[in-house]
Amino acid sequence: MSCSQEDQERESGEPAGWQPVCKRPRKPKAKAAKKKEPREQRRRSQEAAKRRAFGGVKVHDFRLWPRIYPATGHEGYVPLTFVFTGKTVAQRESRMRRLEQAIRCYFAGTLYAGGGITTVDYNQSVPVVVTELERITADRDGAAGKVWRRLGRDEWQTLIEALDNPDGDRLYVVQAEQARRRQKEREAAAREAKRPMCGRCGAKFTDERWRSIRHYPAQQHRELCDPCLTEHREQVQAEQAARRQAEEAAAREAAEAEARKGRGLFGRRG
Ligand SMILES: [Zn+2]
Repeated sequence: MSCSQEDQERESGEPAGWQPVCKRPRKPKAKAAKKKEPREQRRRSQEAAKRRAFGGVKVHDFRLWPRIYPATGHEGYVPLTFVFTGKTVAQRESRMRRLEQAIRCYFAGTLYAGGGITTVDYNQSVPVVVTELERITADRDGAAGKVWRRLGRDEWQTLIEALDNPDGDRLYVVQAEQARRRQKEREAAAREAKRPMCGRCGAKFTDERWRSIRHYPAQQHRELCDPCLTEHREQVQAEQAARRQAEEAAAREAAEAEARKGRGLFGRRG
């Protein structure tokens, strides 16, 4: 846990072991550098705003403390450890619980928004782990054993487990994808429920037929599916052809009758 950088210069009046975490290095600035400052500040604040807009601030990238501590590989700030010792087990437990209650707002993340998402956003949290000296010395594996408790959790874990966020960003990616899939399924089901059915055969319209009746609301027989529409058109054509044939036959018959009548009259005159 201790990753202090010994060669960091200490400011006068600061206690030994003090590590400034979030302040700028105090160095005299050249005039040219001072001129650049407002522009540089604007650029930094724009970048920070971009990161915030992206959701889940990657604080490790723009604080001073990454220069002192190595990247944790986890969301949130540098972890803190409290080691309790002395008195009885019950008293140590009570002190740990009191600490937990007092600083809950710093270590507890916030729930990610969204239906069906139960993951926690730890990007603005300080992970705090506690242990007892007696617990470390009693454990066969010492500090490498399951002797650490992350505040906000009940179980004792190894330090690596305690610092991990199984309910954090990693799970969020999975749950967000599941939520997106469920949303798509709901939308597809809602769309399917609205899909028109053929008034003749009862079949559901194809996407193409559905699009066609939406784009051409004045077209005839909008209640028919594509095959029924084709069938209907063929039927109409066949009926028209039959009617035409019948009319032609009738006309022919009439003409022949007329001719026979003419021949009869002529015959009688002859
Ligand atoms: Zn049909």
